[in-house]
Amino acid sequence: MTTSTFRLIERRTLSPTAQRRLRAFGEQSEAVAELFLSRRVTSMGVQEGLLLLREICLREQISTVDMLDRIERHAVDHSGAVCAAGFLRWLRDRRATQLEGGAAHLLSPPDGTDVHGPAPGFERVVVEAGVLGDQTPLGRLPWLSEAPRTIGEAALQLLLRVCGCHPAAQVQVVPSFDSVARSADFAQGKRTLLLAPRGRRFLRACPCAPTAIGCGYQNLDLIQNCPMDCSYCFLPGYLNQPGIVVYSDWLRVFAELESLGNVRVGTGELSDSLALERETGFAHALAAWFIRRGGPTLELKTKTADVSVFRDLATGSEIEHVVAGWTITPARLGRREERLTASVQDRLEAAAEVAGLGYRVALHLDPMTLYPGWLGDHLELLDQALSAVPTDRLAWISLGLMRVNERVRERMAFRAGGSLTVASNFERGFDGKLRYPVQQRVAAYTEILEHIRRRAQEVPVYLCMEESSVWREVSSRVTGGFVGLDRLSKGRSQWRG
Ligand code: SF4
Repeated sequence: MTTSTFRLIERRTLSPTAQRRLRAFGEQSEAVAELFLSRRVTSMGVQEGLLLLREICLREQISTVDMLDRIERHAVDHSGAVCAAGFLRWLRDRRATQLEGGAAHLLSPPDGTDVHGPAPGFERVVVEAGVLGDQTPLGRLPWLSEAPRTIGEAALQLLLRVCGCHPAAQVQVVPSFDSVARSADFAQGKRTLLLAPRGRRFLRACPCAPTAIGCGYQNLDLIQNCPMDCSYCFLPGYLNQPGIVVYSDWLRVFAELESLGNVRVGTGELSDSLALERETGFAHALAAWFIRRGGPTLELKTKTADVSVFRDLATGSEIEHVVAGWTITPARLGRREERLTASVQDRLEAAAEVAGLGYRVALHLDPMTLYPGWLGDHLELLDQALSAVPTDRLAWISLGLMRVNERVRERMAFRAGGSLTVASNFERGFDGKLRYPVQQRVAAYTEILEHIRRRAQEVPVYLCMEESSVWREVSSRVTGGFVGLDRLSKGRSQWRG
């Protein structure tokens, strides 16, 4: 940008969000800024216009400059003059238009490469002062080898283990995370591991969506944030921390678990359950506890192909209480959108091995994106998954169509290469998030559920974060519908499909 453009922007006091969005246009920032400023668009309008412009350019795969040429010709009012209101209206209309032939072109990875692969190592390990000196005693932990006696000792064990995995990482001790600089790039922030006490409960009921039908799930937060980097991930819209937080006082969780009834518990909401297993050993310790206790049910949900925990503990009938969950995506979509995860093929091979060891396996088709050819891709994916895992080893299947809030939508649009999801035609849903229109959701769930029921009549299937009218409509269309949900947990009894 030239100095004069900068001055113009400063005079208009663009919000930090708008300035960040503008910078994402790179070399074309100047042209974009001048266009908006010369149209006298309000600051809010600039913010909205930049997001619309980015999404339109991504899904139509044209350059910003080409798009600006077209705007010059079309964004006019009734007298033929280009004006701010006409300009924004034109952008909104164009964004709302269904793409002729869809956006299938976005299914090729941006640079032609496969984005799967191992996550890079941590560059920094940051420890909050006081963590290692905490003398609070821990109770008996007989299922752990080398059980620490205090929280501080447990934190030291964890730190040594992390450093052993990442010997090149710089270790820093800080008074609090507030003093750690946040990276403007969320993905870059994932190169920092933060060791800190949680200081509050680890278990919490899954918040779901306010008026959706819940599934009674309990989330267990031992790690916050994830080293993988899916383009559609919702975490950047919710987390505001300078790295991946690993809780140093994690062993307190077992006292909380003692009082649990017959519920499903999982560590895969604010992180991936196995992505940092080498560094932490959390999944192994948790699974050992659930097996020893003989319930409730622990789900380890992942996009890795790491089966070491399951191999290590695969003896005895109580492994019924540990479920291995995989989130699966059509291969050509995963190759584009699921950076640093294992390929879908590798995940399914891992699922087959774990089912062969006697564990139950859960499958999550969530989030599902609708694009030209989505149905064929998803049915093929289901066929592969149902061939890999025998139906008597399937614990449950969850289905969830893409839903995003504004912050996640912005990140998807402005991240390098963009996300296929920006090509979707969303509308405001029952919970304020952007969702596919209701009838489209009902039709999509019906197709998928029908296909599952052709091959697996008894396996519980549920919709994640969906409103009751959608559940009812889908249930009425599919023979067998949502059978078996009462087997999942007490929380499911609210559904009477
Ligand atoms: S694996 Fe899950 S938590 Fe990790 S980046 Fe992908 S969507 Fe986010």
